Amino acid sequence: MANDDQFKKVISHAKEYGYVFQSSEIYDGLSAVYDYAQNGAELKKNIRDYWWKAMVQMHDNIVGIDAAILMHPTTWKASGHVDAFNDPLIDNKDSKKRYRADVLVEDFREKINQKINKDVAKAQKRFGDAFDEKEFRATNGNVIRRQKQIDEITVQLTKVQEENDLEGFRQLIVDLGIVCPVSGTSNWTDVKQFNLMFGTKLGASAESAMDLYLRPETAQGIFVNFLNVQKTGRMKIPFGIAQTGKAFRNEIVARQFIFRMREFEQMEMQFFIKPGTQKEWFEYWKETRLKWHKSLGLGQENYRFHDHDKLAHYADAATDIEFNFPFGFKELEGIHSRTDFDLKQHEKFSGKKLQYFDHEDNANYTPYVLETSIGLDRMFLAVFSNSLVEEELDNNTTRTVLKLPAVLAPTKAAILPLVKKDGLPDVAKKIVEDLKWDFNVTYDEKDAVGRRYRRQDANGTPFCITVDHDTLNDNMVTIRHRDTMEQTRVKIEDLKDIIKAEVDVKHWLQKMK
Ligand code: ATP
Repeated sequence: MANDDQFKKVISHAKEYGYVFQSSEIYDGLSAVYDYAQNGAELKKNIRDYWWKAMVQMHDNIVGIDAAILMHPTTWKASGHVDAFNDPLIDNKDSKKRYRADVLVEDFREKINQKINKDVAKAQKRFGDAFDEKEFRATNGNVIRRQKQIDEITVQLTKVQEENDLEGFRQLIVDLGIVCPVSGTSNWTDVKQFNLMFGTKLGASAESAMDLYLRPETAQGIFVNFLNVQKTGRMKIPFGIAQTGKAFRNEIVARQFIFRMREFEQMEMQFFIKPGTQKEWFEYWKETRLKWHKSLGLGQENYRFHDHDKLAHYADAATDIEFNFPFGFKELEGIHSRTDFDLKQHEKFSGKKLQYFDHEDNANYTPYVLETSIGLDRMFLAVFSNSLVEEELDNNTTRTVLKLPAVLAPTKAAILPLVKKDGLPDVAKKIVEDLKWDFNVTYDEKDAVGRRYRRQDANGTPFCITVDHDTLNDNMVTIRHRDTMEQTRVKIEDLKDIIKAEVDVKHWLQKMK
């Protein structure tokens, strides 16, 4: 399936099976805002729990908090968001479409990279086992020329970004011959900086109201609570504070479903360390976070690191974990070495000391911070899009199956009476009553059993449990596995253990080891 088609299928499947709806759809929706439906809310919660388990509960030195979305406005002055949380925007005068100037250049660069990858794949096919990719990349004329072009673009892009050279930015877009995908012209406006924070007001009367922002990231709620948590939790460095929660950004361009939303959820962890140890911790968290992703079995080849060329004002090293979405490799998670920038800034703006007394060194210092920051909605999209497959079956039919990792699936098992009579529904409902203490399960008696299997496959349910007439005599049921479609006959009393073995978080997280 072409990637575009796959992405369209993902969006329509998410709606049809009750995962994601457009927000306020009856009023024609609100751009880049989405609601999670009955299955989506469960999947999202399971992803959040999987992260929380791995990051908070499995680490003795990491604790979780839940800070408010509204914060004192000085927070955002201190963090640099008021002055620098901008994206460069540019409009095409013919199509009237708006773009992020940096994304236009990055996409252009990525297209050249795709051409290199195509050449490499072709050569690999031609030379087979004898193919040496490293040597090919170093000696092939086309590849060398294209790589040089990519490197030059990177240097130029970094320069205009670092120097905030907006005229240079526009010129770069023109010089590269980048055209608007809609109008096909290069009739561009000037590049302008646009602040992404949403403003709001606190207070009843216009005179006394205070201007606030909806938080654009959850991280600052952690920094301002650093000392509270350190003291009340008697935390010793190195230690981490984690939280999950909503963040808001008035994104310039938001056209990729839940990949880029204006209201989204982050799962962040700030790890406080001794200055000078940031390189080791950066490597540690890069590896640890990648292992967490890979534990879900979405394909090792679908992840890559992308080190930042342009570092944010607060960082001394940064990388993204990119995932192969239906529209190509894009950022899923960021890992940033934030130095002591945030704590120092809050110290300066609040006038309160935000330091740590190290008993071993008998000295006070401002800790350095290593951050891991992942978008829950992007993670949802990664899991959902990767899991949706269309399979050709032996009898020349196809089935649509959502192969969600069992630990994340919204419904773990569907209990199906073969027919709606002869006492089979009673037995099935009794199984539901027993299992629902441990798992989210569902009862389904409508349509022929084959159709019910297909429905549960498309819904991502790992197990179907069928009660038939023999069950009345032998207390056994048929359990069908979603991915293999294998069916086995098992005792009702063994169901709990069989399901647990596959959906248990321990079973999945142990794959990180
Ligand atoms: P991008 O470059 O894609 O705009 P970013 O580098 O600004 O992302 P961060 O500020 O590092 O993102 O935020 C951490 C994580 O939050 C990202 O890796 C991403 O998963 C998620 N995220 C950021 N912006 C959005 C958004 N508008 N919608 C959904 N998730 C987002």
